[in-house]
Amino acid sequence: EYKDMSKEHMMEIRRQNCNPMIMKVTYYKKPVFIHQGHMQWLWDVDGRRYLDLFAGVATVSVGHCHPKVTAAAEKQLRKLWHTTNIYVYSPLHEYVDKLAATLPEPLKVIYLTNSGSEANDLAMLMARLHTGNFDIITLRGSYHGGSPQTMGLTSNSAYKYPIAIGLGCHNTMCPDVFAGPWGGSHCRDSPIQTIRNCSCPQGLCMANDKYIGQLKEVFATSVPSRIAAFFGEPIMGVGGAVQYPKNFLKDTYKLVRERGGVCIADEVQTGFGRTGSHFWGFQGHDIMPDIVTMAKGIANGFPMGAVVTTHEIAASFGRGVHFNTFGGNPVACAIASSVLDTMKEDGTQQISHEMGTYLLMGLSKIRDKYEIIGDVRGKGLQIGVEMVKDKASREPLPPAAMSEIFEDTKDMGVLIGKGGVYGQTFRIKPPMCITKDDADFFLAVFNQALNNYMEAHH
Ligand code: PMP
Repeated sequence: EYKDMSKEHMMEIRRQNCNPMIMKVTYYKKPVFIHQGHMQWLWDVDGRRYLDLFAGVATVSVGHCHPKVTAAAEKQLRKLWHTTNIYVYSPLHEYVDKLAATLPEPLKVIYLTNSGSEANDLAMLMARLHTGNFDIITLRGSYHGGSPQTMGLTSNSAYKYPIAIGLGCHNTMCPDVFAGPWGGSHCRDSPIQTIRNCSCPQGLCMANDKYIGQLKEVFATSVPSRIAAFFGEPIMGVGGAVQYPKNFLKDTYKLVRERGGVCIADEVQTGFGRTGSHFWGFQGHDIMPDIVTMAKGIANGFPMGAVVTTHEIAASFGRGVHFNTFGGNPVACAIASSVLDTMKEDGTQQISHEMGTYLLMGLSKIRDKYEIIGDVRGKGLQIGVEMVKDKASREPLPPAAMSEIFEDTKDMGVLIGKGGVYGQTFRIKPPMCITKDDADFFLAVFNQALNNYMEAHH
């Protein structure tokens, strides 16, 4: 029988020997000591159960320790843990075949990595070698990785260090139709579009042109005439479930390609059915990327990532040797393979679509009740609730207030996440196996936490 260390002992080791990241100590005032997980549930060391609506940041896709995936992992662990892909072995080929089938032509060449940052690093390299250009554009507020190269793509000060990070990376204005200067929630593709909050004449959306204008200004001022790539998430993850005006990515792709660049969809969070309506987030934007990067949900929490591209780009990249010891290891491949099978059997994408829509509807009712909820957005189980001082100013709710609601929600048994450049957005991205009862439980808990906060402070 496995026994957890004492809480005090773990905290001491954390202070003495672990990465001294601030968030790790302050994420909750009273930390959550996890003992085990099953599907959408986590249990702490005292046996308390939590509904996990953050899923290790949209990573647990089909459910914690999903029995079918666990069985596939166990089976592979007994057969072969490791060899590199200089040899030919079935789990890798079975997986690559299955993954390729989920992607449209011409996205058929797959490179397996161990994380999202690694996948994005590789995609940067490919784009540069293929185009012969150097400069890369991303959106402000985005997160694409923490390696020195991908840190350049990432546009959030909290994750930046004062070193020569990601040379040649440039950020354009995030087309955020809630907090940005232009647009309204009708500009985006969402099941809930009840707030009209921009000054565009009815039926005429000018916001997209304005944000595209900002991109054109980056082209005019910050980069050479030819560029290597544009990186964008279909819905921003760490940035706070930000959704763009409907044609933003389509128009961006066109302009980037005119300047010789390739278009890269970062599907680390939005892939594998997370947006509900489509298996890949980019499919909701009527676009075709040249490179797609993925990780997180790919293997339900087992470390893995991938880059998928075209034969043409792969050929430009193939001139050198690219080797990755753990990339495509048999255990990760067996798990990821089982994740794809399980998604089909469990109807994961459909659950994401239905439960996501149900949560968005429920949250929009709560939004209308409280002055401190500015925006509810997202698609499928990639949801953001932007908290504000008041609806008129749209100023971010300060961190202390965010923490209070967050802690209270946790104390009532639900784990959610925080995000956004100012930490002002609650993030809901559960394992995609939640039920209507879970959604109702969360909505009741969140409503109660807001109620408690308002009573204490207003
Ligand atoms: N891209 C996106 C969109 C992400 O959200 C993340 C992680 N939060 C990454 C890339 C980096 O992934 P990893 O942490 O696996 O390196």
